[in-house]
Amino acid sequence: MQKIEALRELLAAPHRKIVLVAHTNPDGDAIGASTAWRDVLAAMGHEVTMIVPNKYPYFLDWMPDIREVVIFRFAPERALEAIRGADIVFCLDFNSLSRLEALSDALAENTAARRVLIDHHLSPDGGFDLQFSYPQSSSTCFLLYCIIEQLCGTEVITRKMAEALYVGMMTDTGNFSFSFLTPALYRALAVLVEKGIDVAGIHNSVYNGYTEDRARLFGYAIHRKMNIIQEGTAAYMSLTEAEMRRYRFQQGDSEGFVNYPLTIKKMKMSAMFLGHHKFIRVSLRSRGDVDVNLFARKYFDGGGHKNAAGGKSLCLDGRDDRSLYPFGRGVRPRGRPRYPPSVVRCGIGFRGGECI
Ligand code: 5GP
Ligand code: MN
Repeated sequence: MQKIEALRELLAAPHRKIVLVAHTNPDGDAIGASTAWRDVLAAMGHEVTMIVPNKYPYFLDWMPDIREVVIFRFAPERALEAIRGADIVFCLDFNSLSRLEALSDALAENTAARRVLIDHHLSPDGGFDLQFSYPQSSSTCFLLYCIIEQLCGTEVITRKMAEALYVGMMTDTGNFSFSFLTPALYRALAVLVEKGIDVAGIHNSVYNGYTEDRARLFGYAIHRKMNIIQEGTAAYMSLTEAEMRRYRFQQGDSEGFVNYPLTIKKMKMSAMFLGHHKFIRVSLRSRGDVDVNLFARKYFDGGGHKNAAGGKSLCLDGRDDRSLYPFGRGVRPRGRPRYPPSVVRCGIGFRGGECI
């Protein structure tokens, strides 16, 4: 409540220049929260710029106002100018400025702007003037809904905003199948439905908007690249850049791949490695007590949630890098294993800059 009052105070001055930044590889939650919050702030009379470090996946292209989101990689000057002139910066759906990569420096330079965090990832960095950090919230969009409800009441939520918020709530919960599915979330959903959103239509736009190539890549990944180890309790997959090129990979095409091994009954953890020319992107998912957030922090300079996390590995030859020990073929940890016993060593190797 105190925080809401602090936020109210911050937004009370008229015509503030406000920047909203969301994380690298923005997802439905990041974009939904950005566009919905932008509408609330714009209705208060503020000047708002939404920025993301790189492009969002193409299956979100249909979202209202998504073209107004400034993509730093495509329009760096526009993004930097907005950040330099900002009175307030909202950081949405990420917990550490380092996740903004090239944008982090620009944010650090504007020391005059007040910084507010609205996020649901574990262990946020410090350095915010006001921090709404609720890892118990299933999505940033749900957290934002609660903030809007307390700050101005749900009457201000338009159908367009409801649609954006729903996208975040739906995608971050795996279509309402992961953790933190609370009665309060369903009450919020009821309010969004009352705003007239087309639930089936949104589902269709997000989950059934892929290309044929993506469907075939998915089949290839599961059939040819999924390795199951540790008596059926862990799985890993990797895709090299060459394999992705073969299926005309577009950003967003691998969405959901890492979840699929968890449809197997005994499976506890799943890992996905995507080759990039400069590093390997790692996605981790788990069930129950297996904590992939810890795992991502320890080995892959990343983080996230207990059952969904990510990071990257800068090791491109895989010969003797500690971060790859849990996954390194023929690479043994020195001394006692440093990874949690429930998490396993997978047999992944790296050759010529690509994971195999
Ligand atoms: P995904 O595997 O879908 O990219 O990410 C799963 C979760 O982990 C998301 O909540 C995402 O924000 C978080 N995550 C992914 N990559 C990173 C990373 O490099 N650093 C941190 N701190 N979190 C990440
Ligand atoms: Mn999120």
